[in-house]
Amino acid sequence: MSARRTTDGTAFPYFVTKVLRTRRVTPHLVRITVGGEGLSEFPYRSPDQWVKLFFPPAGRATPEIPEMDGDDVPGWYRRYLAMPDGVRPTMRTFTARALRPERGELDIEFVLHGDAGPASRWAGNAHPGDALGVLAAQGGFTPPEDPPWLLIAGDHTALPAIASILESLDDDDRALAFVELDDAADEQPLTTGRGVRLRWLHRRPDAAPGEALVEALRHTTFPLGTPYAWLAGEAGLVRSVRRHLVGGRQLPKDAISFTGYWRMGKAESDAYTDEELAEARG
Ligand SMILES: Cc1cc2nc3c(=O)[nH]c(=O)nc-3n(C[C@H](O)[C@H](O)[C@H](O)COP(=O)(O)OP(=O)(O)OC[C@H]3O[C@@H](n4cnc5c(N)ncnc54)[C@H](O)[C@@H]3O)c2cc1C
Repeated sequence: MSARRTTDGTAFPYFVTKVLRTRRVTPHLVRITVGGEGLSEFPYRSPDQWVKLFFPPAGRATPEIPEMDGDDVPGWYRRYLAMPDGVRPTMRTFTARALRPERGELDIEFVLHGDAGPASRWAGNAHPGDALGVLAAQGGFTPPEDPPWLLIAGDHTALPAIASILESLDDDDRALAFVELDDAADEQPLTTGRGVRLRWLHRRPDAAPGEALVEALRHTTFPLGTPYAWLAGEAGLVRSVRRHLVGGRQLPKDAISFTGYWRMGKAESDAYTDEELAEARG
């Protein structure tokens, strides 16, 4: 497997980029390619590489953020929250879908879920020349050395990471991958090795996120050996799949990496409360 655990204590560099082009990959997914000075230095740490994106506030061309002091993330975050309204850019978390350092280009794929979310709204209306701030964070894909097989599962928001993880596997790696979508029209061809079995699942409008996924897992015969499992997507989906794997299939908890990518009915910015804002501003 070419994708290896990658942890490092370096700072999280920030890049001010410009949209180079946009492409509607499927009805609800847009790929935005950005470029910018220094992107060739972007530290690509993991196939599910997380990025913090910063969207300029109305009336400002460029998103400005406080300097990161080494890797003091809590200190940086306090300074970010303390920025005045109207200056502080909206921040959201996404995945670096593909990096082409030699061309200074980075692809990010956005699920278009409507105009209620600033990131979805921005992506649906992005044009070449628009500014986007990109801070390189860490990743969550940390497989052990040569696991017998991999179990990869998530929803539409996890698809960029899943596609990138599957591309990173060697031909003799074995993996079962499941992607739960609201709309079958959002399926897309992925590049996978011979050892990968990929299943697309469709959520019924009245079903909770993860129901189709857990149902499919229940009817799947697992290969022998303890897999490394990677789960991401809506928080309830991640919770129910993890519960099935630990409770129903007796997978050890430490064999599972899981990340809630979003929460039904909650904006990502609800993570910072009024109290946090008040405290940060002294
Ligand atoms: C590590 C990490 C990596 C991620 N990678 C990606 C990625 O590559 N591509 C991607 O599209 N997303 C990705 N996400 C998820 C993304 O951050 C969230 O969907 C985020 O809420 C989008 O911001 P927003 O401004 O559009 O909506 P918000 O302002 O955060 O939310 C507004 C409303 O929209 C709802 N909502 C948010 N996302 C969705 C959705 N996908 N479908 C339906 N309703 C939604 C919220 O529940 C809320 O009610 C990732 C998240 C994490 C933590």
